[in-house]
Amino acid sequence: MTQSDHPGPGGWIADRMHHIDASGIRRIFDLAAGLDQAVDLSIGQPHFSTPEPIRRALADAVENGHNGYSPSPGIPPLREALQQSIDSQHDHHDRRVMVTSGTSGGLVLALCCLVEPGDEVILFDPGFMMYQHLVTLAGGTAVTVDTYPSFSVDVDRVAAAITDRTKVIVYNSPGNPTGAMDAPATIDALARLAENNNIALISDEIYSRFCYDQPFHSPASTNPATLVIDGFSKSHSMTGWRLGFAHGPGEIIEQMIKLQQFTFVCAPHPVQWAGMAALDVDIAEHVDDYRRKRDRLVERLSGHFEIGGGAGAFYLFLAPPGGNGTEFVHRAIERGLLIVPGSVFSGSDSHIRVSFAVDDQTLEAGADLLIELAQQS
Ligand code: PMP
Repeated sequence: MTQSDHPGPGGWIADRMHHIDASGIRRIFDLAAGLDQAVDLSIGQPHFSTPEPIRRALADAVENGHNGYSPSPGIPPLREALQQSIDSQHDHHDRRVMVTSGTSGGLVLALCCLVEPGDEVILFDPGFMMYQHLVTLAGGTAVTVDTYPSFSVDVDRVAAAITDRTKVIVYNSPGNPTGAMDAPATIDALARLAENNNIALISDEIYSRFCYDQPFHSPASTNPATLVIDGFSKSHSMTGWRLGFAHGPGEIIEQMIKLQQFTFVCAPHPVQWAGMAALDVDIAEHVDDYRRKRDRLVERLSGHFEIGGGAGAFYLFLAPPGGNGTEFVHRAIERGLLIVPGSVFSGSDSHIRVSFAVDDQTLEAGADLLIELAQQS
């Protein structure tokens, strides 16, 4: 659409905005808005409260006057603590950290610093939809590599998708929406593929604390140029507080800090002090609780759905009988159950995303409804 086709405010809108389609998830929210009492398995955030020492640290930071701008790369004590922890995981000579406005903020900076018009970015389908929209915003082209039906990455398929325009691969394991995790050997092969083809590898590690069957494994352990994007939203139930961090090669982090200065300015300053407190909070009991909920939901749903993912994060990716995700979600909403169709995250509409980050009563009520709906299919 051009300005001349459409006079007035509509015509002023940049063309790229018309390539960002958020209608899928909006339609579901609109349908859900009419429900009084819903059983909600659609939520992509932890259900536990932000741990008390973190809440207290935020209140103290505000009371103690940490309310102005912070340095753009983050407050020194948080940067130093994060750097120490990162250095203990990765023995890289060039790995520098910065504090960002959520993981999302880190992704915005990373993709805007790396992608230019004409560049291709390899994304996995299904995957977190923000990547695709940020690639569009940066003027790049998303090239998707399918991971159906196992939801684990097939490195040969990735190799086949590489062209001389491929600039970046965005990887996310454990991933949203499936909760699937790749085997360490697959992650290492992907990391080497990026390295051997001079492609930047971005690893979104926001769910790394939620691994139920195998330890977390980062591609950065094989490819030292990997740019890691991480954050406190999920691990410490701080989604509304907007605190993340990014680490990778110094030259890239330096550009991301420059862009942060002229966009987000800094991560919320008092929240960065709360982030210091978060580093000392053990979330193992919550991870154990989510493993138990995952096991319970798998036990209840097996035989009724084809179950995908669930090795990490807090999602199962289910193929409902009948094979149509959106149709199943419409029926679910009619029965007062909120879930998300796979089509929100994918070019295919064969699945639904179910979150188990809920209390046990909601989990059981949700499982009852899912089974009832599957039996009527
Ligand atoms: N990456 C993934 C894979 C996510 O699922 C989410 C949140 N849904 C984010 C990034 C964004 O997280 P944040 O709240 O830290 O911006």
